[in-house]
Amino acid sequence: MKAQENVYLKKAADLTYDCVQCGYCLPSCPTYLTMKTETQSPRGRINLVRVAAEGHITVNELSVPIDLCLGCRSCEHVCPSNMEYGKMLELVKVVSAITKSRLCLHCDVFVRVSSLSMCFRIKVS
Ligand code: SF4
Ligand code: SF4
Repeated sequence: MKAQENVYLKKAADLTYDCVQCGYCLPSCPTYLTMKTETQSPRGRINLVRVAAEGHITVNELSVPIDLCLGCRSCEHVCPSNMEYGKMLELVKVVSAITKSRLCLHCDVFVRVSSLSMCFRIKVS
């Protein structure tokens, strides 16, 4: 991971320490109610951000649950710990966007060089 991503991910991870893992937010989360998996819950996403910042998973592994988050912030409104989920989400989306600007959505061999998702093969001699 490059330094720029690291800065944003560290800021996002710092916010996760306000979460006390109580789970009060889970019933308010539409993606959790639909998919019934911890990784699609606010608490699950918060934990993934933390472990990504610790280097246990990659930003790409974090991207799917973050992309599926609706950003509705229902979780934030019910949180007794005032965890700033929306702020964390915005920071992680920046990290994800920076990463995706280098990696093609289809493979790691291509680099996406425009916002139109057009890929050009890098010739490796
Ligand atoms: S985000 Fe808030 S409500 Fe959800 S588990 Fe963490 S502390 Fe509890
Ligand atoms: S912002 Fe909405 S969809 Fe995303 S974790 Fe919170 S409640 Fe769930």
